Amino acid sequence: MDFAWDQADVAFRRELGDFLDRELAGWDRSETGLGSAVYSDFSRGFVGRLADRGWLTPHWPREYGGGGQGAWQHFVLGEEMWRRGEPRGPQYMNVNWVGPAIIKYGTEDQRRKLLPPIARGEVFWCQGFSEPEAGTDLAALRTKAVRDGDSYVLNGQKIWTSYANVADYCFLLARTGSAADGRDGISVFLLPLNTPGAQVRRIPGFVGDHSFNELFLTDARIPADCLLGEENKGWEIVRRTLAYERVGAPRYARAALVLDRLAAEVGASGRLADPGIQEQFGRARAACEAARVLVYRVIDERAKAKEPSPRAYQARAAMVQAERAVGDLALDVLGSEALVEGALGDAQFRNSLGAGIAAGSYEVQLNLISRLILELPKD
Ligand SMILES: Cc1cc2nc3c(=O)[nH]c(=O)nc-3n(C[C@H](O)[C@H](O)[C@H](O)COP(=O)(O)OP(=O)(O)OC[C@H]3O[C@@H](n4cnc5c(N)ncnc54)[C@H](O)[C@@H]3O)c2cc1C
Repeated sequence: MDFAWDQADVAFRRELGDFLDRELAGWDRSETGLGSAVYSDFSRGFVGRLADRGWLTPHWPREYGGGGQGAWQHFVLGEEMWRRGEPRGPQYMNVNWVGPAIIKYGTEDQRRKLLPPIARGEVFWCQGFSEPEAGTDLAALRTKAVRDGDSYVLNGQKIWTSYANVADYCFLLARTGSAADGRDGISVFLLPLNTPGAQVRRIPGFVGDHSFNELFLTDARIPADCLLGEENKGWEIVRRTLAYERVGAPRYARAALVLDRLAAEVGASGRLADPGIQEQFGRARAACEAARVLVYRVIDERAKAKEPSPRAYQARAAMVQAERAVGDLALDVLGSEALVEGALGDAQFRNSLGAGIAAGSYEVQLNLISRLILELPKD
């Protein structure tokens, strides 16, 4: 691939950066918890202003509220957002993969009804995949959807559902076949969260206040047209969805920002002259840069409309390494100060813990790399 940016992308990044510097003056994500009312309220207003400029879903087709732009422009947007702490909040899920999944697998009615509100920044979605006994082993999920006339009736429990407390819809996985069908008996539902029988309960978590939730479904009845794609064919949708999710969030950009702030803090104390500390900073910076170029390779594949490849696993594993390198560095150089709640080091350390679990754990990415890229034997 050609790593040089073209003039149009450079100009776009500059224009976007100027807009964000104005819009985000005084906004500090570290002061608000993910999923907190303050954070979500800010995001709702902010994404509306982005949408007004056509910058929320620039890569979607125009007929569904997109700008008809390419994968790179969308990615430049993602990088600039994450460099500033991701002010779009839960919207990154909508625009990166919920919308594209509906574009690819939805009926025309679903597209016309569900996509424009996302493109205008009016709705939040959450992702209802994990269950108490089904995380990594997603095919073990037990939430049931039973067809009853023109409806499906949902029963079961989801866990770790980020943003469910503020979301309008859930991109939900449920079993429509038998347990023995494994991954072949799973379907995707586009569940309105105001459905009677759908109840969200918050759970405390290490990432920040109010970020995690459980979703309980008790005889929740939804119209049959909430099914996305074909019944029992949800695994294919999820496989592609997770490929988008793995690199959709350029977390290395936020890690690099934290690294710069750490360097400024440590530099002010004169400790940057220490060769040991310099080496640690160098290693963390190299990890961020490695993640950046590995992610670019995946975006290049997408821009060329290739099928998602195992390179996405490498890119995501490298992003986890970058986040961890910066989190560990913060603990090393700031000492006990890094553990003060809400401090830069504390936020980075928590983020790096979550990064290695959310969207498929780090160890599982390594397994996939060993099998699909290095072609090592399974045992
Ligand atoms: C910040 C954050 C946000 C999240 N948001 C959401 C969300 O919005 N929606 C949602 O549905 N879920 C969400 N999750 C849940 C996440 O997807 C699961 O936690 C994840 O898939 C792991 O599942 P588990 O917790 O059941 O752990 P397990 O599957 O029980 O794994 C526990 C440990 O065992 C290891 N392990 C398991 N299987 C293997 C294997 N085959 N080889 C090697 N090691 C293995 C794992 O690496 C892990 O370290 C979120 C999690 C986090 C941390």
